[in-house]
Amino acid sequence: MSRYSIALQGGAGPVPGRDYTATEAHLSALARACEQRLVAGYRSLDVVEFAVAELESCGLYVAGKGSAPNSAGYVELDASIMHGPTRAAGAVAAICKVVSPVRVARGVMQKTPHVMLAGEGALNFARQHGFELIKDAANYFVLPVGVTAEDITEQKHGTVGAVALDQSGELAAATSTGGTFMKLEGRVGDTPMIGAGTWADDDVAISCTGTGEHIIRSGGAIAIAQLFRAGALLQDAIDQVLAEIKRLGGDAGIIAVSKTGEIVMRYNSHGLKRAAVGRQHPLEVATFAN
Ligand code: ASP
Repeated sequence: MSRYSIALQGGAGPVPGRDYTATEAHLSALARACEQRLVAGYRSLDVVEFAVAELESCGLYVAGKGSAPNSAGYVELDASIMHGPTRAAGAVAAICKVVSPVRVARGVMQKTPHVMLAGEGALNFARQHGFELIKDAANYFVLPVGVTAEDITEQKHGTVGAVALDQSGELAAATSTGGTFMKLEGRVGDTPMIGAGTWADDDVAISCTGTGEHIIRSGGAIAIAQLFRAGALLQDAIDQVLAEIKRLGGDAGIIAVSKTGEIVMRYNSHGLKRAAVGRQHPLEVATFAN
């Protein structure tokens, strides 16, 4: 059997002292489900889409069903997906009323000549192509694990993401978010920006979480990919960008998988909800420092 790897993230906003047993159990089971697919020969692009769609629909994280409203009182979602070998990419920004933003992002990648659709246009595209819509938005969204009603009046945040290497050597990445709590209407973070929140090429697949404005201004995922391509160790490349995010005043968590199957998960926040498993990497699940 060839090498494969999968890494998942559920956001870099966990609060020390709160209980994340439920998200750890969920991430652990999902990593195993992704591993089974990779062992069975599924493509990394399908596996990251599957993983992120599951993370969106479970309501445990700040993405999809677990998203909080913007300062105008309604939920806007961002997501993106990228296929390493072809650099094909799709994204949706500030989209409302769709159950799975990442599935719509994949639709943008495959059914349009564009990389990103935003707002009403993205929703119209989702409608036209039969993506599942939320029927009763007033009763659909829930508070995710570890988030209180008081939190959503503050500038906190969360995201989900997945990066994978499949047995044919293809890398892929996907990321989805409800964004920062109380964000301004129309605000778009790093998550749907290819090269900021999500990147995949022949060498590495990367998914970021954290304060999106700082991730964008640090160069984000593409800065890591370029350092890695230039010869830096993957962990050093990630740490350099995390240091720049910190210098700018932000916090972040970053997961990455390389073409050799190496898995790196790093953060400069209190914690990062994360899980990973690979052919050479035993199952690893954690929220805070081990
Ligand atoms: N990066 C996301 C955003 O700024 C939020 C997060 O990852 O927690 O929209």
